[in-house]
Amino acid sequence: MRFEISKVLDAIEGRVSTDPSLARAVVDLAEVIRYQDLDGGRPASLLRLGMVIDALAREMEEDSVPVYAVVHRALLSDADLTSNERMVVRRWADDGLVEVLDNPGDRMLEVADLLGLPVLTRVRADGLRGRYPWLVEQAGRVLAPVPGAGGPAFVAHVGGGHTPVAGDRSPAGAKLLSRQWRCAEPGCALFGGGGGGGGGAFADLARVVERSPAGQPPPTLRGGVPTCPRHGTRLGDAGPRPRSAVLAVRVGGLIRRRFVLTEDQPAVVGRAPDQAGGIVLGQWLNDEARRWISRSHVRFELRVGEVIVTDVSTNGSGIRPGGSMAEADRVPLAPQQSRVLAEGDMVELYPGVQIGRPDELPTGAPYTPTSVMAEAPTMAMRLPR
Ligand SMILES: [Zn+2]
Repeated sequence: MRFEISKVLDAIEGRVSTDPSLARAVVDLAEVIRYQDLDGGRPASLLRLGMVIDALAREMEEDSVPVYAVVHRALLSDADLTSNERMVVRRWADDGLVEVLDNPGDRMLEVADLLGLPVLTRVRADGLRGRYPWLVEQAGRVLAPVPGAGGPAFVAHVGGGHTPVAGDRSPAGAKLLSRQWRCAEPGCALFGGGGGGGGGAFADLARVVERSPAGQPPPTLRGGVPTCPRHGTRLGDAGPRPRSAVLAVRVGGLIRRRFVLTEDQPAVVGRAPDQAGGIVLGQWLNDEARRWISRSHVRFELRVGEVIVTDVSTNGSGIRPGGSMAEADRVPLAPQQSRVLAEGDMVELYPGVQIGRPDELPTGAPYTPTSVMAEAPTMAMRLPR
């Protein structure tokens, strides 16, 4: 049982992120873990975050939808959590996977506004107005998780509907995310990493996570000045933010996960790539697909803003230009061959196993999911009772 719970917590850990390219909704972690009527269990439980993420995945029809969690600092020592859960939340805080604040205020709404993300909260709409009244009034932008038959479901704060809607980044958000920022506080988990210089953080060196500046969260604006939400210090402008591109793996018609490319960080996708940061497909493949797809099958690089795909497999891949599923349109990509991934193009590793830009991957399954899947899809994670 304990082992099962830590496995679930690990699975949840893969679905919390402050990376603006990957986060799909914003939550207040302290609030979510106390949604006692979701499961009628303990006063506080970190597993409820998993339940809400699960519901979001069902609603968005995607396998893995990370959430941007804002965390009140008191939660790190909340006695209602198990010691294991507290340890996990502290680790997320240290690694910058969640944003820990002394006073979250309406930071949740600010992040949603800057990044164009929906907010999942049960705080009453009239308690949410303030600096972002229009956000609260927009359909699909602020949704409340409520207990449902098959797990939590969402209801809109205003109007009807239950579908979380993402919008565009606000103009302020787009501007903030075009630069990289540096916090003066040594070891800042949100705006530190690389070139922090000196500081007193030598003892924590092993804990410093290599965070790509491309994935920095949005600063908070205080009187129009970009500020570290954690430390309240004015942030230094460290130059233009490196370019990045988001790609998604679709298996059996369902997007399984998204990943980010930067010019410094190429990504290898395959059955079980050896490379650090490799995208592992093995768990979603049936025996035939697993035999066909190499451990490392394709490599993606970002060069001057273009996505280059190189086949590094034994059996080769194919390109589906403009996402066309017509066999006549399929262009083979032989082993060691490279190609620029044009707009709408999809790389196909095996029938039903495709990689492309998430918004360009056609929805619906051209192949029945069971033909490529090792087992029934676990939409996110099953919670032990
Ligand atoms: Zn800071």
